Amino acid sequence: MAKIPHRLYLTEDQMPKQWYNLRADMKEQPDPMINPATMKPATEEDLYPVFCKKLAHQEMDAQTRYVDIPDEVLEMYKMYRPSPLIRAYNLEKALGTPAKIYYKFEGNNTSGSHKLNSAIAQAYYAKDQGLTSLTTETGAGQWGTALAEACSYFGIPLTVYMVKVSYQQKPFRKAIIETFDGKVIPSPSDTTEIGRKILAENPNTSGSLGCAISEAVEKAVTTEGCRYVLGSVLNQVLLHQSIIGLESKIAMEMLDEYPDIVIGCAGGGSNLGGLIAPFMQDKITGKADPRIIAVEPASCPSLTRGRYAYDYCDTGKVAPMARMYTLGSGFIPSANHAGGLRYHGMSPILSKLYHDGYMEAVAVEQTKVFEAATMFAKLETILPAPESSHAIRTAIDEALKCKETGEAKTILFGLTGTGYFDMAAYSAFLAGSMKDYIPTDEDLKRGFDGLPKIPGIQE
Ligand SMILES: *Cc1c(COP(=O)(O)O)cnc(C)c1O
Repeated sequence: MAKIPHRLYLTEDQMPKQWYNLRADMKEQPDPMINPATMKPATEEDLYPVFCKKLAHQEMDAQTRYVDIPDEVLEMYKMYRPSPLIRAYNLEKALGTPAKIYYKFEGNNTSGSHKLNSAIAQAYYAKDQGLTSLTTETGAGQWGTALAEACSYFGIPLTVYMVKVSYQQKPFRKAIIETFDGKVIPSPSDTTEIGRKILAENPNTSGSLGCAISEAVEKAVTTEGCRYVLGSVLNQVLLHQSIIGLESKIAMEMLDEYPDIVIGCAGGGSNLGGLIAPFMQDKITGKADPRIIAVEPASCPSLTRGRYAYDYCDTGKVAPMARMYTLGSGFIPSANHAGGLRYHGMSPILSKLYHDGYMEAVAVEQTKVFEAATMFAKLETILPAPESSHAIRTAIDEALKCKETGEAKTILFGLTGTGYFDMAAYSAFLAGSMKDYIPTDEDLKRGFDGLPKIPGIQE
């Protein structure tokens, strides 16, 4: 057989024209979302003030298996997709493993992450509905960047509330968002009621994600034609990210390969949910039985140490509540350099699959993650994002297990992005000053104590 190439790019024509909705094949559905205003299961109409109509429909639609990707979205996808499937020959060789390691690289666009796949869809549907502006928050900055790119392309004004400490520490992220005409406001700010209140109480605060979300939401609901958008966790976001898995599956079929193990990092679950979608379909329908592994930081262990409970998806408590693995919406993870993995909960779809035994999860410490990241950078010449490097860590660990057992397993992992804006983290690792933080049971209890009480459902 011909040697498998290092990089396999599908042609534009081979790019999927439909997203895949994993819920259509799930044996049991995630529990219904609850409207916090009524404490009753949320309806599609309940979501209209928060999401635009087509996205609200996608959020609730568990039946439609394949959803057409609008032409306008496909046109923008074509500027950076299909993304390459890469065989990590150098890494395999350095590890001395019989395993075959493949990764799907999503960092090939200016936002530097997979987040653009959903940002484009969300900006398009907002434009299609005639909305006139969007707001969001950003912590690490990837989501804000991706959404700014998409909003600029479709001509929708965007306001990004950026946690003040990130705003100060990552001035170049801000500059990219501004290049795409996004307006960046350090949060807390004097542009909202809640921001002014927080500033009055604590003028020197460096801000928090919760506060930035609350400001973005307030701005959206008090501005005509404006909506607030989220970059992970939601069912609609997993739907859009299914393009990652669909492309991977086509590419692997062309190579006559099928993964024994599929690995992805998990913050809110969107890249993992997208990558595994068609492989999980095979698993649920009995066509194949790959192992599927979610990798999370030990500092924010929602799957491995969280509760499967109803919780708020946003700290502002306006979006519907979902049943998911969560650390509690008030849980504040200690300073971890993988900013994109600091979310308190996990996608309700992935939570349900994990709960029902279709998936495994591991938690890894950040110094181990950066050991893997620097090794990978030198061998594969891609400087990975700290978030993505969680998946690299576990892929390496699984490949080393194969070395012990002599099994030539096929491993596929998601390389979600590049780490050029995370060089402070790399510097800390290289200087030996990076620390591992693992919350105590006491820390976690504080988060669990804040879980909402829902009469008759969760007392
Ligand atoms: C946001 C982000 C993640 C984590 O988000 P998910 O929704 O869990 O995929 C992972 N990698 C990168 C590069 C990110 O920007």
